[in-house]
This record gives sequence, structure tokens and C-alpha cells, in this order.
Amino acid sequence: MPHRLSAVSLLSACAMVSSLLWTSGCQEVPVTGRSAISLVDDKDINEKAAAEFEQIKSMQRMSRNPAQVRIVQEIGSRLSRTVFWDVPHADWEFVVFHSPGVLNAFAMPGGKVGVFSGLIDFCENEDQLASVIAHEIAHVAARHTHERYSQQMMLRPLGVATSVGVGTTIGGAGIYVPSVGSTAGGGVTALTQSAFDRKKELEADHIGLMYMAKAGYDPRESLRLLQRMEEHIASQGGPTSNGWFANHPGFPQRQIQLSELMDEAMAVYEKGEVQSSHTIIE
Ligand SMILES: [Zn+2]
Repeated sequence: MPHRLSAVSLLSACAMVSSLLWTSGCQEVPVTGRSAISLVDDKDINEKAAAEFEQIKSMQRMSRNPAQVRIVQEIGSRLSRTVFWDVPHADWEFVVFHSPGVLNAFAMPGGKVGVFSGLIDFCENEDQLASVIAHEIAHVAARHTHERYSQQMMLRPLGVATSVGVGTTIGGAGIYVPSVGSTAGGGVTALTQSAFDRKKELEADHIGLMYMAKAGYDPRESLRLLQRMEEHIASQGGPTSNGWFANHPGFPQRQIQLSELMDEAMAVYEKGEVQSSHTIIE
């Protein structure tokens, strides 16, 4: 089950950390400037994530489509250069899994990113694919997994029950959309069970939009992709996992936020040195 932390706001949680005199504290999230808890050691969590990523790779079928692998590598390379100062210690790795029909992607702490081939098939151009990868990178830059683990660490000694157990996988860091039909999750079921809460998903949309614009990808394509995904999922009869709606913002909410931020993102995009060639994905 996805966790919720509705009773404790992040800011008050930070204050709680201070009052308990814990040595580590809060960090500022890039782009949004939000104050977030960070009590987890980077090296430790990155090592665990890297080990888990290797395990996922050994279990999933890797794509042998050179065009798909190349475009993901190119987008990953451009975006990771853009975010360098926000995630200076990342060891970026971008992998394509052969999963036709799975419109999804995920990211893990330290810079491990998985893209399912169904998503690449679905995207009309490189900008749309870049919007998803930028969203995933935003989860890493905002250290959302660190925050989730920190919240667990804080609440456990206080006797507050959390729905995220000790053994929760790191691998769930940020799937992009609800899974649809029999292809749900691409076989990586743990991922769908530990998606982030609504606020973090909206924050990743916000940060990702600015990252893609800065990297020279047309931010308007993020909105177009979400609209197309909404139509696609509705045409398939909706998401199969009823748990998804418990912790993800709906498409309209995501689209409204992106629309509100679009002028700012377009200014970043138009000011950039490189702009997208709007490469069509065949
Ligand atoms: Zn996400």
C-alpha cells in the first residue's frame, strides 16, 4: 500500500527534527525551494538503489532496439548535464526495458532510470519522451526517496505507525502514470506499490518541466503527452490498480499545474542555447 503522511506537514516535520536534536536536518528542493527532511545517508541509499537496479535489470528483458536505446541515451545525457549541480554525485544510467504496451518509467536514487519501451512507442516526439524522463530525474534531484525514508525514521521512534514497512523497496521511486490492462507495471510489481504521494508527483512535474525547458526540449509537449495519456487510459477502461488514485494526482490536476507554469517554462526554453529539433519518434 502507498503511504500517506497527511497529519505531519513537511515543515512541521523539519521542526520536529530540530526539536529532537537530530544531527542531520533539512534540505532545499531544487526549483521549488521547498524545505524537505533529509536524514538518510546518500552513499548508503545510492548503494542500495544501485544493487536493486541491477536486480531489476537481471529480471527484465532489455530492449534490443538501437533507435530506442539511442534516443533515451541522448535525452538522458542532455538532461543529466542540465541538472548536474542539483545532483552532483549521481552516477546516471538510462536503460530501456522491452515492454510493449507499458507506458511508464521510473527513477532511483543516485541516478538509475528505467524506461519501458511502450512509452517510447507512445511518444510522438523526443520532447514528449524527455518530459517523462525529466519528471523522473526531478524525483532524484528532489531526493524524494530520501525524504520518504527520513519520514519513516522520524515516526518510528515516536510510535507512529506508517504504512511503509522496513522492507519497502527503493525501486518505486517515481513511476509516471497508472498502469493499464494486463501489462500493468511491466512485471515490476514492487514499483507500482511504492509510488510517491500526490504532492511529490506534482513537485516532480513542476521541477521536470523546468529541467526539460532548460535542456532545450519544448515544455508544451509535456502537456500534450499528459492529455494523450489521459485519453489512452480512459479508452482502455481506466487504471487497473485502484491504489494508484490514492496517492497520485489526477490528470486534470497535473495539466492545470503545467498550464500555470507554462509561461515561465517557455521563457526558460526560449532563452536556452539549444532548442529541440522536435525529432519524431518513428
Ligand atoms: Zn513521478
